[in-house]
Amino acid sequence: MADPKGFQKYSREVPKARQVDIRLRDYKEIYPLPDTKFIQTQAARCMDCGVPFCHNGCPLGNIIPDFNDAVYSDDWKKAYEILSETNNFPEFTGRICPAPCEAACVLGINNNPVAIENIEKQIIEQAYAQGWVKANNIRVETGKSVAVIGSGPAGLAAADQLIKAGHRVTVYERNEKPGGLLRYGIPDFKLEKWVVERRIKQMEESGIIFKCNSNVGFNVKIQDIESQNDAVVLTGGSTKPRDLPIPGRNANGVYFAMEFLEKSNKYIDSGFNAIPDIFVKGKNVVVIGGGDTGADCVGTSNRQGATSVTQIELLSKPGNQRTDKDPWPLWPMILRTSTSHEEGCNREWSIQTKRFISDDEAIYPA
Ligand SMILES: Cc1cc2nc3c(=O)[nH]c(=O)nc-3n(C[C@H](O)[C@H](O)[C@H](O)COP(=O)(O)OP(=O)(O)OC[C@H]3O[C@@H](n4cnc5c(N)ncnc54)[C@H](O)[C@@H]3O)c2cc1C
Ligand code: SF4
Repeated sequence: MADPKGFQKYSREVPKARQVDIRLRDYKEIYPLPDTKFIQTQAARCMDCGVPFCHNGCPLGNIIPDFNDAVYSDDWKKAYEILSETNNFPEFTGRICPAPCEAACVLGINNNPVAIENIEKQIIEQAYAQGWVKANNIRVETGKSVAVIGSGPAGLAAADQLIKAGHRVTVYERNEKPGGLLRYGIPDFKLEKWVVERRIKQMEESGIIFKCNSNVGFNVKIQDIESQNDAVVLTGGSTKPRDLPIPGRNANGVYFAMEFLEKSNKYIDSGFNAIPDIFVKGKNVVVIGGGDTGADCVGTSNRQGATSVTQIELLSKPGNQRTDKDPWPLWPMILRTSTSHEEGCNREWSIQTKRFISDDEAIYPA
């Protein structure tokens, strides 16, 4: 195990976020990579519990105590090998996973949990830096071919598993570039797009073919895909937003989060070429919905130069501690303050949105 007394000797620490006034001037990642010693100290806190609840907490079943031990012992290659057994893309999860593993960490019963997500990120960045992340060498070709429709994380993970199993794989994506919400939903300040591109390149080198601008069922026939492949995997995600069908919904300036975020992400990807038609510089922005997508809209609005940002939530303000309804190791329903909130946002709870009143209506009420 890592240091048997590590959890007594060291406190949980996470890398320092970049200063708010500096990071608001760009869309770059908020947390710089710390040095390896910092992360090794954090790995030393792992107690290597007999029943590691973090395994269950992690939807991937990551073998967390084992890679913590390898990190503590300075064996980063071994840590990378252990992590790769269960996780296709630790560079994504190490940056944007909500980390239910940490909520289930046994140390979290009466102390702060092990900083597992940061350890994971450091392992994969170390692996890339050392050149250990290579194209997959397929040992046995099955002679079968599989089409994957949709290139979000689900499609990418399916493609990665399929190519490792020796199949030929073609990924069809209707958008201009692969990545799904990794590329067009999640803002760069959480996940810079070179991270996605680096992985796509390795997947291409492994033999996966990406066909973008291929909207299956529209400009590409599903019958052609079926006849050319032995199997088809549907990983199209859910692009249907949840609407708010209340009076005034069609007023100018009311948008779905993804209309706003996709345009912003494409603007950044274009090298800030042409300002998108939804751009909130100088505007007072109200974000309806207090979840993570809402927080992404807050962070993006502040970077675009909004005058004010208010986020409203239907539910009441959660507390700071677990209650009897969400005891350890369940996911705690507690108040979360994201880095976007820290950058400036007025948050309000217990608000039901009943109607949108457009400027015309406000001046000339019905
Ligand atoms: C704003 C936002 C922020 C988020 N932040 C986080 C976060 O920080 N952490 C986290 O864990 N999760 C986050 N999520 C959730 C996460 O992004 C999704 O759970 C995840 O992307 C789902 O993956 P997917 O592959 O199923 O779908 P998607 O990522 O939606 O990918 C589906 C892909 O299929 C393509 N497609 C659909 N139909 C077709 C077709 N007919 N032909 C070709 N291609 C097609 C789409 O264009 C898309 O690229 C966030 C979601 C949003 C919206
Ligand atoms: S950060 Fe997410 S992917 Fe990584 S170990 Fe924790 S739950 Fe699993």
